[in-house]
Amino acid sequence: MSAAGGLERPRYVGRFAPSPTGPLHAGSLVAALASWLDARAHRGRWLVRIEDVDTARCVAGADRLILAQLASCGLTPDEEPVRQSERDALYRAALDRLLASGRAYLCGCTRSDIARALIAAGRPHARHAEWVYPGTCRPERGGLGDKPARSVRLRLDADASIAWTDRRLGPLRQDVARAVGDFVLHRADGLWAYQLAVVVDDAAQGVTDVVRGEDLADNTPRQIALQRMLGLPTPRYLHTPLVLGADGEKLSKQNGAASIDTGDPLAALRAAGAVLGVRSEAADVGGWLAQAIDAWRARWAAPDAVRNDGMIGGCPTLRVPSR
Ligand SMILES: [Zn+2]
Repeated sequence: MSAAGGLERPRYVGRFAPSPTGPLHAGSLVAALASWLDARAHRGRWLVRIEDVDTARCVAGADRLILAQLASCGLTPDEEPVRQSERDALYRAALDRLLASGRAYLCGCTRSDIARALIAAGRPHARHAEWVYPGTCRPERGGLGDKPARSVRLRLDADASIAWTDRRLGPLRQDVARAVGDFVLHRADGLWAYQLAVVVDDAAQGVTDVVRGEDLADNTPRQIALQRMLGLPTPRYLHTPLVLGADGEKLSKQNGAASIDTGDPLAALRAAGAVLGVRSEAADVGGWLAQAIDAWRARWAAPDAVRNDGMIGGCPTLRVPSR
């Protein structure tokens, strides 16, 4: 706290933000360990946020299980974890600001409305590709018309090109308007969109550094666009390599990721450390973590370090988002 009123922000605040859809597996432990190591290497604070806005996907008790698994690996948050399901008022306030300033608008389109509009515009969408919303309900195009409101979308500028530097992947750029179009902030099913909740929470919690899996790298430009429209600071980003399943896809429950073995936390940490290129020889959890902090600091916490030197799976070209 500063003497000048206590408003000074900590120099470093990191977070791990799991969705409670099941126990931690090898892939999610990599993200947790990386964010914890980065916070410790910077002598910062480390928070855990339970990302349970998508209630249909959440599994009862998974949040407590994840926290217990983290604790068995020596990864304990510096504050009581927050839950997105309890932060409705924050998201509502941000959405109201965007609506009031004309940066967001109501959309009445169903998926088939969007598909028809894309075909009519000569832009039929490819399988597995993101649907780029064609702007049908934009205020300047007449708004909702006689359709009932279903969702709320962000109104992007015509040039919504976002450039940023990932601490591992290096300089990246995406034109958000071309890649995804005016994206959803409040969903037709009544739930908050992931992008809005993350941006509001990172700012509210004073997060300075986001360290997370590379599958989320393509969400970053949407989050930066939203931060700018809300007048919020942009954190630094470091996207870690993914652990792939036997099918070559990101390890997940769907392709058979097993829960980490909390009976042998050292083995789980060693496996996660190997993905991150962090070596530690110590034979107990506390010692392993202490050595790993030094290894991480040497590699990733040098002043203004942007490194792309041999971590597995570097991929500077952003795929079109799937989330
Ligand atoms: Zn619409």
